[in-house]
Amino acid sequence: MAKENVRITVFDTTLRDGEQSPGCSMNYQEKLRVAHQLDRLGVDVIEAGFPIASDGDFEAVKAIAVVIRRPIIAGLARACHTDIQRAWDALKDAARPRIHVFLATSDIHLKYKLRITREECLAQARESVAFAKSLCDDVEFSPEDATRTDPDFLCQVLEAVVEAGATTLNIPDTVGYTVPTEFGELIVTIRRRVKGIEKVTISAHCHNDLGMAVANTMAAISAGARQVECTINGIGERAGNASLEEIVMAMRVRYDRYPYETAVAAEHLFPASQLLSEITGVAVQPNKAITGRNAFAHEAGIHQDGVLKNPLTYEIMTPQSVGVPDSKLVLGKHSGRHALAIRCEQLGYQFDRRALDDIYRRFVRLADKIKHVEDHHLLELIRETHKPSTSATPLFEPLAVAAAAGVPAQESVRPFPMAPKANAFGLPLSISPEHHHDQEDYLWGV
Ligand SMILES: [Zn+2]
Repeated sequence: MAKENVRITVFDTTLRDGEQSPGCSMNYQEKLRVAHQLDRLGVDVIEAGFPIASDGDFEAVKAIAVVIRRPIIAGLARACHTDIQRAWDALKDAARPRIHVFLATSDIHLKYKLRITREECLAQARESVAFAKSLCDDVEFSPEDATRTDPDFLCQVLEAVVEAGATTLNIPDTVGYTVPTEFGELIVTIRRRVKGIEKVTISAHCHNDLGMAVANTMAAISAGARQVECTINGIGERAGNASLEEIVMAMRVRYDRYPYETAVAAEHLFPASQLLSEITGVAVQPNKAITGRNAFAHEAGIHQDGVLKNPLTYEIMTPQSVGVPDSKLVLGKHSGRHALAIRCEQLGYQFDRRALDDIYRRFVRLADKIKHVEDHHLLELIRETHKPSTSATPLFEPLAVAAAAGVPAQESVRPFPMAPKANAFGLPLSISPEHHHDQEDYLWGV
């Protein structure tokens, strides 16, 4: 069954695109905590921020670049010297820095937002990538609003930036407009038409305005994209970005249709999700796939009965595989330090011995008063014990993620029928030539 293991690069933009979404802004310490968790999760690239956007962002990117050494650390920049220089100043101490340059290419953005011609856009893209390349070997370019860009012009720009030294071409569906078949076809078109494309990595960056960010991302992978841009809990501009946990688990659970691998240690998905919502105060919707409170809850009696007999009757993956705490593990006053440490870890916290002792003492006192200590009690307790300050940062040890990622390719029992081999793409579509694109006030990022 094993043909070849195609590796997908996971580019996490929780700290950049995600952080830009309403209610999700994070301070310096919070960003560092999320970055540590992303490192534990095993993502390949962390987009740490947009250094020109604010001094706070600059400092956070700089700190993450210094502290987090395994993944590539990327910083976003508009296609101009000041932005790129600022990004580089924040990134230059990273073990593996990447400058991510973006420039809109769709006519609507050129005309109304940037007020430049296509020729000017082409020259600016080429020139800015060349400048970024003069500072940093690893340069990613994003033609913002690619999915509403004339494909001929898009290919022209992409070819120019490859020539100028870009190593990753990210294709953003900035406004969440595309659909899976169309996006897959766009990736195929780019692969066919852009000279030099075989030397670079094609990346997908999808937004969820029509609820199709993950589906579009999966279509892009099937069509040859080898990097995915995504966020924890799918946070991001407007309706959000493609959700990291859904992409990763789609590949794990449906390896038969998506025979690709990532280095993500799936058992850290739920802790990452919990940590992020705890930090931002933005709750995960209960029915959110993979990380929602109800994602593994079985309410109906007949379902409960089936799950107890064999989880595969109603579960396509186990809660444990994505790090959802074992609900049978009840924390009470008889629970030991070890059980407490495990539950803290499952909630996204790892403490050194001293900090754990401290929490344990308070935990026992609380357990004396109330019978069962629920997760929210524990989170409150952790928060109280570690008031936001420099010492509050939980201790995260750098993990050998590769070891943790050794997930078996697929169970041998296939409880579900295989999908037919052929794609059902033969249906005629009646397309009206008139589309209306409401212009948005959209300045930052892809
Ligand atoms: Zn975006």
